[in-house]
Amino acid sequence: MAVGCVLVLEDKAMTAPHPVNWLDEIVTRSLAAEPITTTQALAVLRSEDGELLDVVAAAARVRRAYFGNRVKLNYLVNMKSGLCGEDCSYCSQRRSSEAGVLTYNWLSPSVVAEEAERAAASGAKRVCLVASGRGPSDRDVQRVAATIGAIHDRRPEMEICVCLGLLGAEQAERLAEAGAYAYNHNLNTAGSHYGSICTTHTFEDRVRTVHTAAGAGLSPCSGVIAGMGETDEELVEVAFALRELRPDSVPVNFLMPFKGTPLAGRWELTPARCLRVLAMFRLWL
Ligand code: SF4
Repeated sequence: MAVGCVLVLEDKAMTAPHPVNWLDEIVTRSLAAEPITTTQALAVLRSEDGELLDVVAAAARVRRAYFGNRVKLNYLVNMKSGLCGEDCSYCSQRRSSEAGVLTYNWLSPSVVAEEAERAAASGAKRVCLVASGRGPSDRDVQRVAATIGAIHDRRPEMEICVCLGLLGAEQAERLAEAGAYAYNHNLNTAGSHYGSICTTHTFEDRVRTVHTAAGAGLSPCSGVIAGMGETDEELVEVAFALRELRPDSVPVNFLMPFKGTPLAGRWELTPARCLRVLAMFRLWL
C-alpha cells in the first residue's frame, strides 16, 4: 500500500476581499512615472499578510518594466576600516565601538586594484571603494584618485563608485576627473529621525554631499537603512527626500544590529517587513 502525505493549504483568498485594486492604481502611476501618494506608500507598508504576494507582484511588474530581469553585480572594497570619530549608532566602525571590527588605514592602490581584478573575474561591473570616516582630507582624495587610476589601468571598463563620507565641491571634481563614475552617500533615515541615530553630523550635511557629488558629474547613489526604530511615516519621509534628490541608484539596506553598537539587539525587521519596504521603495521612486 502506498503511503502519501497531503499538504492542505487553506485558501483564505476565497473569503478575503480581493486585494489587488488599490495596487493596480499604484502600479499604473509608477509605470507612468507619476509619484504615488503618501497614503498609497503607507498602505504598502501596512498591507495585510494576505496581500503580501500581491504587493510583491506589483513591485515586480514595475521592476520588470524598467529593468527586465537584469541583475547587476557590484563589489565593495573597504579601503579603510574603523578609526572613525563619528557616532552613527548603527555602525560598528563608530567612535568607541566595542564591536571588535578589523581596523586598518588605507589599502594601497595596487592592493585595491588586485581586489577589483577579482571582482571583474566574478562578473562585477562596478567596484565600490568605501572608507570609514566623516569625510576625506585632500590627501585622501589624492590617494583615492591614484587608486582609481590603478584600477582603470587594468580594467578601463570598470565602473567605480566612491563612498568617502561628506565631500567638498573640489574634492568631488577631483574624483570625477580621476575617473570615478558614481558617489555613494546614503541619507539612511528621515530628517526628523536623524538626530536619534547620529549627533556628529546632520541630515542636511548628507543631502548637501549628494548634491555636491551630482554637481561634479558623479552619478548619485543614495539610499536608506531600514529597521533603526523609524516609523512608517519616517520611512515614507526619507523616500520622499530621496525622490527629490533623484539619485541614479538607491540602496535599500536593512539594519544588522551588531553587538558593541547602540542599536545592538534591535531586531525589528521580519522577512515580510523587508519585502514591504522594498516594494514601497520600488513603487515610490
Ligand atoms: S561616518 Fe561612516 S564609518 Fe563613521 S560611524 Fe558613520 S557610518 Fe560609520
